[in-house]
Amino acid sequence: MIYEGDVYRPPSEADSLILQLTIGCARNRCTFCTMYKDKAFRVRPIPEVLADLEEAAREIPYPIRKVFLADGDALIVKIPDLLTVLDRVFQLFPACRRVTTYGCALDVLGKSHEELCTLRAHGLEMVYLGAETGSDRILTQIKKGVTAAETAQACQKLRAAGIKTSMTLITGIGGVPRMEENAVESARLVTAARPEYLGLLTLTMNAGTELTRDCLAGRFQALSPLQILEEQKIFLEHVDSEGTVLRSNHISNYVALAGTLNRDRLPMIEQLARAIARGNLRPKQYRGL
Ligand code: SF4
Repeated sequence: MIYEGDVYRPPSEADSLILQLTIGCARNRCTFCTMYKDKAFRVRPIPEVLADLEEAAREIPYPIRKVFLADGDALIVKIPDLLTVLDRVFQLFPACRRVTTYGCALDVLGKSHEELCTLRAHGLEMVYLGAETGSDRILTQIKKGVTAAETAQACQKLRAAGIKTSMTLITGIGGVPRMEENAVESARLVTAARPEYLGLLTLTMNAGTELTRDCLAGRFQALSPLQILEEQKIFLEHVDSEGTVLRSNHISNYVALAGTLNRDRLPMIEQLARAIARGNLRPKQYRGL
């Protein structure tokens, strides 16, 4: 299989077969994101995708248990084509336990309940949804192209179809003036959406992004490491999402949290409070992207 450009996948898909259904991101406007800036978006022809799968089945000597559909937004692909790919995955890899994908809230909302149920029945288990923040003001600022209500609705729609959601939020994405707003509104979003999994990332100022240019020009004030922890603490103090599995083990983070809401909210708040009091942060050499 020859991959086109840099390929990204969530940390939990480290041992998955990555299959590119699309190249790049259909939106590609978010001010903080560098992921697919070098790729012009296109949907790959399905025969090409199927040829990749057949090659993987021939060449990979161990059983494939997980498949992740890339690039940025494989859910944009038409339902009959998605079903063709899902069916071929399970024919070629009988040991495969799950298929997951990145998805955008608007592409979920553009599908009917019946279509999502069909995708589930054909093996789509989970959608990774980059919510980034629950604040509509910040969403506009970062040019995400979606509202918090649309993201919450997309999660609810996926759950109704039996598809899990793994949501990500970015601590610090609102900068210093919107630190509290990012925490409180993101908690409100998660409370409304109740995703099965939630990943907290920390804003990383990557070279060449619009946000980094704003930061260098003084138009965006990034949070200090202790403010990042403070924002995560405020988020945890406000969120109410029974059963959501929360992780902040991404390498961008200063403190690795792991727990299940709401049961582990207090221990995680205490962990952050201790880290703030002692300045106990993950060493720089272990952070980065
Ligand atoms: S954050 Fe997601 S939607 Fe935004 S440009 Fe990056 S890949 Fe595309």
